[in-house]
Amino acid sequence: MPEHKKRVALCGVILESNAFSPIATEADFREALYVTGAEMVREARQPVSILPREMAAFVQAMDATGAWQPVPLLLTGCPPWGPIEGDFFRACVADIVAGLVAAGPLDGVYIANHGAMVATDNGDPDGTLMAAIRDAVGGDVAVIATLDLHANLSQTMVGATDAIIGYQTNPHVDQVQRGEEAAMLMRRMFAGMAPAQHMIRLPLVPPSTTLLTAAGPYGELIDYGQRREREEAGEIVNVSVFGNFAFSDTAKNGLSVVVTARGDAAKAALLANEIATRAWNNRTAFTRDMTSIEAAVAIAARDDRAPVIFSDAGDNPGGGGEGRTTWLLAALAQADAKGVYFGAFFDKDLGAEAHGLGEGAEFQAVFNRTGDTEFSKRFEARATVLKLHDGNVAGRLGIYKNRQLKLGPCAALQIGGITVIVISARNQTADPVFFEMFGLDIAQAHTVCVKSRGHFRAGFAPWFAPEQVYEVDTAGLTSPILSRFNWKNLPRPVYPMDPDTKWDPPG
Ligand SMILES: [Zn+2]
Repeated sequence: MPEHKKRVALCGVILESNAFSPIATEADFREALYVTGAEMVREARQPVSILPREMAAFVQAMDATGAWQPVPLLLTGCPPWGPIEGDFFRACVADIVAGLVAAGPLDGVYIANHGAMVATDNGDPDGTLMAAIRDAVGGDVAVIATLDLHANLSQTMVGATDAIIGYQTNPHVDQVQRGEEAAMLMRRMFAGMAPAQHMIRLPLVPPSTTLLTAAGPYGELIDYGQRREREEAGEIVNVSVFGNFAFSDTAKNGLSVVVTARGDAAKAALLANEIATRAWNNRTAFTRDMTSIEAAVAIAARDDRAPVIFSDAGDNPGGGGEGRTTWLLAALAQADAKGVYFGAFFDKDLGAEAHGLGEGAEFQAVFNRTGDTEFSKRFEARATVLKLHDGNVAGRLGIYKNRQLKLGPCAALQIGGITVIVISARNQTADPVFFEMFGLDIAQAHTVCVKSRGHFRAGFAPWFAPEQVYEVDTAGLTSPILSRFNWKNLPRPVYPMDPDTKWDPPG
């Protein structure tokens, strides 16, 4: 008799929702990532893929470990933005469920989600999707999900899955390992292992700037979890510590610990409790100072220093920022700063105009000529079109490595001593390719400014050591100063916004 090929459904609806950002529409998803059927598996097996890398890694790891039959359903996602349109979300769930039903008997389902999605009419769409999948396949099918470490966990998500595996790095550079880990865990489940997971969520919503993992309290906590996982390798199969994404503004916000044990739920609960208690006892470490715009301008003006990189932290498209606030750009232009690379400013009108004018043209560049918002104001300056690009580039370093990027018509504009990169698709500047596609050399810049809050650290590490990095306090939808936001659903009290918040370990 031929070996039964394990049949594994593949799906995902990927969004990190900032509740204060505009609604993420079906068009946003279809423009960024919307893959179904055989195309998903074909893409997953490419060396440079349009797919999130955990999905590609999962498929390749399954390929490498035995016979199986992928059952690709729907994988869609868009860059961090506001809540997903309710109708479109329901259509995605219906498509995935219909695909599961039509697929016939399955052995497993792999879900590649982000985990911090909000819908216009649902505070926990990740949970809704996972519960619908579990309902469709029943209790005997292995359901494993990978999530971004900024996910907001709910009991619904944990209850509907056999295992949830979170990224361990921020900047996120371990998607391949996590996709492989999901595949290995699924193989172990096929061999008879029945995991049990336990989640504890704390009333702790740290500022995003304190959730880096190379150093600091969050990295130490993740390392501790990994050490404990190794020490109990016979019993514990995964420890994930989710930092949460504050701007989702949901009832399920808060740093959470998910432990997956090999069948013994009590062991999972015990270790989750131990790690959560450790996090809570160290809560005062989750604070961090930022650099004011005035201080940043003064640093930019200094000649007697090594090159520096500024994070335009309040306007990170990777956290739902518009990618087009002008506070930092205007302040540097006003101060006539020299040797500055500024990228990347999201402005389709300006990108199209520069392409119409051609390289070498001089013109009055108007940023944000349409759609003024609270944070994205009009800004004008005399500019020269230095260079143009169609925006089709492959990521090179950090989170976009081996990801095909579609940035739309792009331009490098020279405004006095500032070279400003304009892009036509909203993306965070986490990779040097945003500058290099114009022939610019990062090593030639005196000051680099990026619309990215944290992921640029991986992409620009070859040029900037941690002490050459400044997080600039700019106003915007992703400001790490959480007290500036009008929260509606975030559980209160919550630390550090409410310094007297109490938490007692369960049991
Ligand atoms: Zn993230």
